[in-house]
Amino acid sequence: MGNETVLRIAIQKSGRLYEDSVQLLKECGIELRNVKDRLRTVSENFPIEVFFLRDDDIPEYVEDGVADIGVVGQNVLAEKNRKVDTVEALGFGKCRLSIAVPKTEEYKGVASLEGKRIATSYPHLVKSFLAEHKVTAIIHEISGSVEIAPGIGLSDVIVDLVSSGGTLFMNGLKEAEIILASQAVLVARKNLDEEKIAILDKLLFRIRAVKKAKKSKYVLMNAPNDQLENIISLLPGMRSPTILPLANEGWSSVHSVLSEDKFWEIIEKLKAAGAEGILVVPIEKMIL
Ligand code: ATP
Ligand code: ZN
Repeated sequence: MGNETVLRIAIQKSGRLYEDSVQLLKECGIELRNVKDRLRTVSENFPIEVFFLRDDDIPEYVEDGVADIGVVGQNVLAEKNRKVDTVEALGFGKCRLSIAVPKTEEYKGVASLEGKRIATSYPHLVKSFLAEHKVTAIIHEISGSVEIAPGIGLSDVIVDLVSSGGTLFMNGLKEAEIILASQAVLVARKNLDEEKIAILDKLLFRIRAVKKAKKSKYVLMNAPNDQLENIISLLPGMRSPTILPLANEGWSSVHSVLSEDKFWEIIEKLKAAGAEGILVVPIEKMIL
């Protein structure tokens, strides 16, 4: 590839964001070989170099310009408070940074944390949350297995990441209050040069097409011609639905794109309007 410019992206080396990050690049048509056990790898079909790092270090590496862009959780981003730009929410790695208290305890709001010992890996976020609520508490910063802290007498409550709540439950805790809702985001270094911005734009274009496609379904159905107008009015589509005559006279085939959030509602209405043989097909990429 000679000396041409490459965009350097930092992703998590292993852990909860790793698979989805690699998968996203793959869905964007970016081929990566030998990703396992590597520190870095260059794609052969897109001007990108991937660095595999601990997620905690990604904001700093991007701020310092060691990497140009990175994939990191909003939780880590907020805790590290580095000067980087968030360019796109990626829709995976969803979790909450929450206060959790012993199951047996009734949680009576932030004020009830006054004077309590809080174990967390997010000291800065907890500190500013407490300050915002004018509460003073003792923060114990620990780097892992925060959920065991109350059980071993290290703290009264914890602030930790939660997704299902299963880990909390197994440790005799319950989620009491959300401090931050988080997902993975794409961040970029400030002052990227023009050539790198051009590559980033190309990548963003692909990411958005992949994201959009995931939220949409391609729907095909047979509709009686006398109900066609009614059925068309139920379909949002990208422009308007495609209508093709069927061999069976008096019937048409209707094709359209539906977004996930309205999907079931519209399908029910279509059935009620007389649509038959409804097929729902996943969309791989969607370019608008
Ligand atoms: P590293 O070795 O890279 O420091 P880690 O142990 O700090 O890894 P992981 O547990 O792999 O981190 O989580 C990485 C990110 O995944 C979190 O910062 C968060 O943004 C996201 N995440 C999503 N769901 C969860 C969850 N249930 N628990 C923890 N993190 C989650
Ligand atoms: Zn980490």
